[in-house]
Amino acid sequence: MCQCHASPGPRQPINCIVPPYMLEVLAMRGDAKTAKAARAQLELNEKARRERQDRQSLRMTPQSTLPTFDFVTPALSQATMQRNLDRAVHDGEQKAALPGKLVRKEGDPPTGDVDVDRVYDGAGHVYDLYFTHFQRDSLDGLGMKLVQTVHHRKNYSNAFWNGEQMAYGDGDGEIFSTFTELSVIGHELSHGVVQFSGGLVYQGQSGALNESFADVFGIMAKQHALGESVDDSDWLVGKGILGPEINGVALRSMRAPGTAYADAVLGQDPQPYHMDFYMDTTSDNGGVHINSGIPNHAFYLYCQYLGGNAWAKPGQIWYHALQRLNNPLASFHDWAGQTVSSAMELHGIGSLEVNLLRRAWKLVGIQV
Ligand SMILES: [Zn+2]
Repeated sequence: MCQCHASPGPRQPINCIVPPYMLEVLAMRGDAKTAKAARAQLELNEKARRERQDRQSLRMTPQSTLPTFDFVTPALSQATMQRNLDRAVHDGEQKAALPGKLVRKEGDPPTGDVDVDRVYDGAGHVYDLYFTHFQRDSLDGLGMKLVQTVHHRKNYSNAFWNGEQMAYGDGDGEIFSTFTELSVIGHELSHGVVQFSGGLVYQGQSGALNESFADVFGIMAKQHALGESVDDSDWLVGKGILGPEINGVALRSMRAPGTAYADAVLGQDPQPYHMDFYMDTTSDNGGVHINSGIPNHAFYLYCQYLGGNAWAKPGQIWYHALQRLNNPLASFHDWAGQTVSSAMELHGIGSLEVNLLRRAWKLVGIQV
């Protein structure tokens, strides 16, 4: 039940890893079985969108009541912060109901179910990244329990954050192999961080920024877990989740947006890397999974300029910018400006860090 078509609103809509345009291509080009599955999933999207709209009108949470967090200096907070890692993994037993049967809670030993154990460990890695380097105690900054469901629905080809928990399908075994991959786990949980940091409306440029932040912190969680520098990383989001028959390496590439896959059935990765190729579209909530290639690539370039680890200077600037943004409808230009302000605050006006950041944005066609 990918609910990527959810309409924008003050509450965060459901954020999926697989964009609807991939399903649309599969519905047109896939063999009979694949096309049928894709159509069924698109219908579910539409149903979910309507249900969600109904729910939203019932319980609208004003943006101002969501908690917001100011960036606090590491030295101050580290000493006083307490680790509150609390995970719960459920088995959806291939049904739609969430969260499903509890199969592993915090501190429990491995279950032997690869997906259960992978998302348990994955959520731990994501928590560690935010706690250790961003002084953030879970998604809400208040030790929120990390609830995840694996084996969600039958042959379900997506993963999502629904505002309260994570859910992962098993894939159909042909187009998609699995969704319990660390950059995907980090991506989805980071949608939670965006939501609790004031949010970015999931439509158009602000939606693409929401997607990009999730990709940036998703790949960073993987780099952190593997101890990778910016040079070691492959910068691929969702590596290994495409099935063996698909001509592609991942869902997205931050090093070279637009090159993650090129397949007879799946089509061509549509991500642009520069504003010249920005895609004006009404599908995919205004191209949230498409145009995110532009800010993704700016982050990648900036990491290359600085070297070292992404969670050091570049990650700190991106995180600081999110905490300071206070604009759920930010454009790419607004966001780029906020990252430059954050770099000035953290490293000084006229610093090398600021100059290189301006250069990274300029290379993707954004002048700040
Ligand atoms: Zn997403």
